[in-house]
Amino acid sequence: MSDPMPLRFAIVGAGPSGFYAAAELLRLVPAARIDIYERLCAPHGLVRYGVAPDHAKTKAVTRAFDRIAADPRVRFRGNVRVGRDVSVEELRAAHTAVVFTHGSDAGRRLGIPGEDQGNVFTSVDFVGWYNGHPDHQDLRPDFSRSTAVVVGNGNVALDVARILVRPVTDLAATDIATPALDALRESSVRRVVLLGRRGPAQAAFTPSELHELAHLPGVALQVDPRDLELPAEDLAEVEADSSQRGRQCMDILRAAASAPAASEADRVVELRFRTSPVAIEGDDDVARVILGRNRLEGASGHRRPVDTGEREILVAGLVVGSIGYLGARIEGLPFDERTQVVPSAAGRVTGLSGVYCAGWIRRGAQGVIGNNKRCAAETIAAVVADLPGLPAPTLPAQSIDQLLAERGVRVFTWADWQRLDAIESAAGQLLGRPRVKTLSTQDALNLIPQEYV
Ligand code: NAP
Repeated sequence: MSDPMPLRFAIVGAGPSGFYAAAELLRLVPAARIDIYERLCAPHGLVRYGVAPDHAKTKAVTRAFDRIAADPRVRFRGNVRVGRDVSVEELRAAHTAVVFTHGSDAGRRLGIPGEDQGNVFTSVDFVGWYNGHPDHQDLRPDFSRSTAVVVGNGNVALDVARILVRPVTDLAATDIATPALDALRESSVRRVVLLGRRGPAQAAFTPSELHELAHLPGVALQVDPRDLELPAEDLAEVEADSSQRGRQCMDILRAAASAPAASEADRVVELRFRTSPVAIEGDDDVARVILGRNRLEGASGHRRPVDTGEREILVAGLVVGSIGYLGARIEGLPFDERTQVVPSAAGRVTGLSGVYCAGWIRRGAQGVIGNNKRCAAETIAAVVADLPGLPAPTLPAQSIDQLLAERGVRVFTWADWQRLDAIESAAGQLLGRPRVKTLSTQDALNLIPQEYV
C-alpha cells in the first residue's frame, strides 16, 4: 500500500470466514488494523459449534485461526453483539470498511402439522446443544424411546445420525458438551431413520461421511435395495457428476443394501429415500411420524418430489429436522428473506458503501470450511479495489471501545479467550478429553473476571 496510515477494519463474526477475511486483509493491506467482533466469548464459530465433536481433525484448522488472531494488528472483541451493543452505523463511522461474516443462527423448519410437539428439534438447535453452544443449552432432548427420525440428506443429517448411534465410549473422548455426553450415556435410541425427500441420486451428503457411517462399530447401515433401482433420469444425474461423488455414494449404499445383517450390530441407521414426514403426532411429545411416499418428476438435474398419497405410520420418540440453515439477521443490515443472505455483489453489500460480507451470510449455508477461504478472498479483493474511494473514518480509533464501556459491555479479549481455552483444555486433560467446554456466556465471564486482564 502506498498509504502508510493505518487503515481500520471491522470484521463481524469470528468463525472461519472472519479469520480468512482477516488473513487476506493482512496480506494485501499490511497497514491494516482489524477488530474482529464476536457475539460469543469463544472464537472459531462453526468449527467450535458446528463441526461434529468426533471430527477432531477438522477442528485442527483453529490453529491457523489462532495464528491470525495473534498478529499484533488484530484484536478480538468477544461478547459484543453488533446490532445491539454497537450499531452497524457506529462501526461504519469508526472504520474504513466493515466486513460481515456472521453466518447462520437458526434451522429451517419442516412446516408440517405437529412440528411444535416436544422432542422435535432443528439440527441447528440439536447440533448446538451437543456442541455446547450457549444459545442451545436449554434443549433437554429425551432419548428414552428407541426410534429417532432425522429428516434431510445432507452431511449435517449424517452428523446427527452418527452422534445418536455412536458408541458413547467414543464420544467420551471428544469435546462434546458434558450434558449431551451424560444424556447420550443413558440413551435408549437404537434405531435412527434418516429420511430423504428425493432419491439417492439427489442426496447432498458426501462419500467420506457416508462411508464413516457405514463403518461405525456396532452400527448397521440399512438401505432397501428397491430404493437403489434408479430410473434413467436419476442414473444420468449420478453419471453427470464429474466429482464421482454420486457414484461413490451409490457404491456405499449398494454395499450396505447387500450386506448380511451384522450380528454384532445393536444399533441401526435406516436410510429411506423418496420419503417425507407429513405430520408429527403425539400427546405432548412426539409419538408417531406420518410418512408420505414421494415419486420424482422432472428432467435429470431438476428432479422434484411429488407426494403419491401413500402413507405409513412410524412410531418414534425424537425428530430432528436437518434441512438447512437460516441466515443470522443484524439490525441495520439488509437481509433477503427468500435467500436468507445479506444481498451483495462480489461481496459488496447492496446499498451500503464500505460494507461487505463473506461466508454463509453471503452465499447461504453451503460448502465445507475451506470454501469460505475463496469466498473471503473474493470479498477482500472488492474491499481492496474500493479502498481509494472509501472515505476515512469519521469517529476516532478508540470510539467503539469507549461506547462499549459506557454501555457496560464487558469485552472478552483474546487474552481472556486464551485463559478460558487453557481452563477448558486443563479440565479436559483430567478426563482424557480435548477440552470441557464452557456452556454459557455468564460462566465464561465468571471464570475470567475482568480484573484478571
Ligand atoms: P445441505 O447439504 O444443503 O442438505 C440439506 C438437505 O435437506 C438436502 O438433502 C435437502 O434435500 C433436504 N431438504 C431441504 N428441505 C427439505 C424439506 N422441506 N423436506 C425434506 N428435506 C429437505 O445442508 P446441511 O446438511 O445443513 O449442510 C450445510 C453445509 O455444510 C453443506 O454444504 C454440507 O456439506 C456442509 N457440511 C459438511 C460437513 C463435512 O464435510 N463433514 C459436515 C456438516 C456439514 P433436497 O436436495 O431435496 O433439497
